Parts: sequence; C-alpha cells; structure tokens
Amino acid sequence: MSIQSINPGPVVWLTGCIHGDEVTGIVAIQEVFKRIQKQHLLRGSVYAFPLMNPIGFETASRNITLSREDLNRSFPGDKNGSLAERIADRIFATIKETNPSLVLDLHNDWMKSIPYALIDANPGAACRKTYEKTKAIAEKSGFLVILETEELVKTFSYSLLQQNVPALTIELGESYVVNEKNVEYGVRSIFGILAFLEMVEKMDETFSFQLPESVRGKALEFSSQPVSSASGIIRFLAKPGDVVKKGQAVAKIYNTFGKLQDTILCLSNGIVLGHSDSSVAFPGAPVMAFGVIE
Ligand SMILES: [Zn+2]
Repeated sequence: MSIQSINPGPVVWLTGCIHGDEVTGIVAIQEVFKRIQKQHLLRGSVYAFPLMNPIGFETASRNITLSREDLNRSFPGDKNGSLAERIADRIFATIKETNPSLVLDLHNDWMKSIPYALIDANPGAACRKTYEKTKAIAEKSGFLVILETEELVKTFSYSLLQQNVPALTIELGESYVVNEKNVEYGVRSIFGILAFLEMVEKMDETFSFQLPESVRGKALEFSSQPVSSASGIIRFLAKPGDVVKKGQAVAKIYNTFGKLQDTILCLSNGIVLGHSDSSVAFPGAPVMAFGVIE
C-alpha cells in the first residue's frame, strides 16, 4: 500500500502481521490509510506491508507454517536462503529501496496484555543517531516505552536499526483477534507520530495511553523474570497495567490438587505488561512480563 504527497518529506513504513497470529496491525494499517485518504498527506510518503506472513496468518500461527520458521528471526534475509529468509529479503530490499525515514512494525503480545512501544537493544556506537531518533519517535507514540535488554539479532526492527533505519515495534495488546480498542490506540498513535513528522495536520488531542502516574513519561526495561520454578496451574494476583512493588506476590502456582508449589515475587518495582498465555507453568517458563522501574 502507498500514499505519496506532492511535497517531498519523510518516508514512513507501516508493517503488520510478521507473526501470523498478530492480526491487529493489518486492520490498524487499513484504518490509517482510510484516514490519510480522507484528510491529506502534507508531505512525504506512507507505505505499508499490512500482512508480511500470509502463510502463518491463514493458519493463525506465529511462524511460517510450512517451514516452521519465525519470519521475525530471519532478517535481513537471503534471496537464496530458506523460505523465511527469501520472504525477509524481499520485504527488506523493497523497504530499503524507498530510502525509509522510519518503520513502525505492528505486533500483538499475550492475550492479557497492555499495549506498549518496544525499542530494541542499543545496536552500538555506529547506529547511535538512529537509536536516539527511534527513542524520540517512541516518546511521541503515546504508549508506555519499553526497552528491550536482550540483543534480538535477525529481528526485522533490529536489522533495520543496524542499517541505520529508525524502527520501532508497537505491541497492540492481545493476538489472535481484532480488538477494536487496540486498533483505535494504534491508529491514534500512528497519527500522532505522522503529525510529529509534519506529514499530517496536528491533532486536536494528542494520544496518550492511560498509565499510572509512577510510570508516565518513563522508558522502562523489559523483564520476564522471575520465571516459575515448578509446574502447575497459574493463579495471577496482579493484572496487566498494575503497578507492583519489589517482593510483592504477583502469581501463585498450584498443583492439580490445590497444593501451593511456588509464589512468584517481583524482583523490582514495575508495571505488569502481561500474563503468559499458558495456564500451565513449567520450570523455567515465564509467567508474566514487566516494565521495570529503576
Ligand atoms: Zn510479534
């Protein structure tokens, strides 16, 4: 999809459904394009790949069903490589050809999760300016800003950063189904970013996802620690969006007969981002995700 203004300006890419079960981005992109067509693109271009993983999408699975590969671990791709690497190569090359100023990659998280903007780990000194630009854009997204601490090489956004293209991941709540509320958050966030880039008219009301006072305007590190030490059924004691304190019990793991196996205690102050999709805990498996408040 593409819309071009007659006036030169930034080139922004919107991408969706790199994980086949993460469907909200497809609809958010459709809505953004409808709204741009109704309004007016003041300058620059907006391009989109609404559905990057159609094979996964058709079977509601994260990976490319045929080859079981994670497309988001196959970048920048290889035109002679595996199925995922070939798809990644086509996506990456097409985007790079347009000399992009920004890529917003739309994802979904666990079924019970709040939306947030996710910035990759810092790719190093050679990409410092790109990383800073990405951070500035993330602040304009209106979402809670979460910093990835792990270096997730071969992901789409990290590969873009490494090639000096600002790229931000936006997690729009639950996967599998289109939640209209999350579509709306996504559209308003993207419009806020386009307005910041002076590509569309400034909005009357800037979007900001409602957050508790203690995390507002902060960038928090991502954590899925502590993991469970036992197997059993998970009972959550804190909801996504709740602010939690170091040492607070946030989940309990029981065996089939109701005997307590483990209590998950927060390692630091933070906000709950989401609950694991699994009702079963396994030793070493994550139970919840947090944004950590220093
Ligand atoms: Zn994803």
